[in-house]
Amino acid sequence: MCKFTCLNILASTKNYKCETFVEKFFIKSQYLNIQKPIPENVIIDVHNHIGKPEPGLEVYQTPERLISEMDIAGVDKAIIFGFPEYSFNIVENNDYIFESIKKYPGRLIGFSLVNPWSREKAVKELERCVNKLGFKGLKLHPAIHHFSLNAHSLTDAIFEECSKLKIPIISHGQGDCPHCTPAQFGDMAETFPDVPLIMAHMGFWQNTEDAISKAMKYDNLYLDTTMNNNVESLRKAVDKAGAEKLVFGTDTPGPSMQVEIMKINVAIPDRKKRELILGGNISKILKI
Ligand SMILES: [Zn+2]
Repeated sequence: MCKFTCLNILASTKNYKCETFVEKFFIKSQYLNIQKPIPENVIIDVHNHIGKPEPGLEVYQTPERLISEMDIAGVDKAIIFGFPEYSFNIVENNDYIFESIKKYPGRLIGFSLVNPWSREKAVKELERCVNKLGFKGLKLHPAIHHFSLNAHSLTDAIFEECSKLKIPIISHGQGDCPHCTPAQFGDMAETFPDVPLIMAHMGFWQNTEDAISKAMKYDNLYLDTTMNNNVESLRKAVDKAGAEKLVFGTDTPGPSMQVEIMKINVAIPDRKKRELILGGNISKILKI
């Protein structure tokens, strides 16, 4: 029933019960209205992939598409990085991220994507992205690039560079992937306590409990809310690890920003906690 139909009924009947219904309807609609999220401080989405369309690539996302999604969902800023699936030319992909940021000043925040198997080249590329292109962090994907997050002989060099550059890392953290378990995140968080480490997907599904307990243990370990659609898990993470340890993300182009924001709104009724998750925490991590 639309707003005006309700008002017409109210006007014609002057029925008290109907008025009560209208009040309830509006309150409920306001709560569920995903086109206009409940007013918050700045909303920052920490997890988005950008990559130019090329023949043969099934998945891609232009900055234009992302910005239009952000405008509809009321997202102020978004962290962007390349697609690990298609990072045949890492340098070119990072340059595309840089071009995207330049097109939309103030809206997009670049993270470098490198493959640790490139060893020194990966470290150099990370340094170039931060010092020359102004990127603010690093994205790792142990599952697609086939390495274990805590393979120290391979990944320590990358973490050391992040420590030197004073930037955070966001890494894939899917529960059934043996390369990036909560225990491996815990190991790296403990080895590099000055590097903020964000576990994407918070160990969904199988390892969510472990992910929460590791976030409780390590001050520099954070959980990103993407893909973890279990509202109870989100509530549990807030109750146990604290709202300060969760960061909102969507993992576009797959998921919808509107739905992901609604998930946070439904799971976390406390406004102050929601503000931290939707933007406050990542602002602090990035010092913006
Ligand atoms: Zn992703």
